[in-house]
Amino acid sequence: MPQLIRSWVESANTPDTDFPLNNLPYGVFSRDGIGPRCGVAIGDYILDAATLEAEGLVSFGGALQTGTWNAFMAQGNAKWVSLRGALTKLLAEGSAAQEELGALLIAQEDAILHMPFAVCEYTDFYSSRHHAFNVGSMFRDPENALPPNWLHIPIGYNGRASSIVVSGTPITRPMGQLKGPNEEVPRFGPSQRFDIELEIGAIVGQPSSGPIDVGQAFENIFGYVLLNDWSARDIQAWEYQPLGPFQSKATATTISPWIVTAAALEPFRTTGPEREKPLLPYLAEPGPMNYDIALEVALTPEGGRETVLSRTNFREMYYSTAQQLAHHTSSGCPMRVGDLLGSGTISGASKDSRGSLLEISWGGKEPVEIDGGSRSFVEDGDTMTLRGHAQGNGYRIGFGECTGKLQPAATGA
Ligand code: MN
Repeated sequence: MPQLIRSWVESANTPDTDFPLNNLPYGVFSRDGIGPRCGVAIGDYILDAATLEAEGLVSFGGALQTGTWNAFMAQGNAKWVSLRGALTKLLAEGSAAQEELGALLIAQEDAILHMPFAVCEYTDFYSSRHHAFNVGSMFRDPENALPPNWLHIPIGYNGRASSIVVSGTPITRPMGQLKGPNEEVPRFGPSQRFDIELEIGAIVGQPSSGPIDVGQAFENIFGYVLLNDWSARDIQAWEYQPLGPFQSKATATTISPWIVTAAALEPFRTTGPEREKPLLPYLAEPGPMNYDIALEVALTPEGGRETVLSRTNFREMYYSTAQQLAHHTSSGCPMRVGDLLGSGTISGASKDSRGSLLEISWGGKEPVEIDGGSRSFVEDGDTMTLRGHAQGNGYRIGFGECTGKLQPAATGA
């Protein structure tokens, strides 16, 4: 396990910061007087990457001055390595550039964070065995909880890029078609079973036009974000057969504001769970392709204190991002720069490691205790927060928070 690389930015050297020099995640920020621009998180600060390039300290053909990271991603792996190397040198303890760069550091508390990249297309998978088993047990039958294809295919569906928002964006409770088990006809109203899904999103950084081998897949992944796939369970239950979720997943998907690069997470690769059935050769992994990333879900009611509802780990996933990308492209499906792949809800085996309220409250039958009350699903005024980090030796690679507060439905009444 690598050691902390010390920086002259003192707050980057503390063991509990999300943003040591080993991390260097990419985001987009604005502040008083300056519009949205590319930046790099370091300790409690953001390094203004747009000005860094404008002043000639690094050179990527103007890509860092475009207001998103897409143009830089498109330049490919050699440039990714080059920028990371240059930033590591510039920000390391003893760097000669310290005085010059001091003026390019903006306190994170003074900045507003924006979408770090333009999402091209969004695919959401269903790759946690515990999640699929729990959902199948509730909606199908505990004896046959996993669909017959599940142990063979990383199941996914094509979602909406247009409703992906950055952490902090308010979420409005959706309206939709609802039909309870004892109702003969559907009605239209606010979702009563609005939920979250704890996921990690992988960002495709290189275009492709044919099948990608599972062993090559990571060369096309630029980085990762935390992802909350807000889900209206009552709308979903009525609409999803036979073509899968549609409006139930189209309200919003929140992502954390910093792209944690694949390079920063490389030391944290680990093996996934044992295969229960042999996979077809195109899905066989040549080595460890899961990541050891500790995750948590917290709920803060309006005016109340936070309760952590769940803690789990990304290494639990039955299918890795590499297998998802190999499967996604197996048909010849082209991928583009800025495509986002949701992992699927990340649930562990125990009740306190489940990644959705649907599972935590077992469909509303076992409400969970929170500060001043209990919850089966998200209530108006609740703030839902996802956190995640990979634990290094004396440092951690953190994602920053992925939060959203639920506002009442716009009923038009
Ligand atoms: Mn999902």
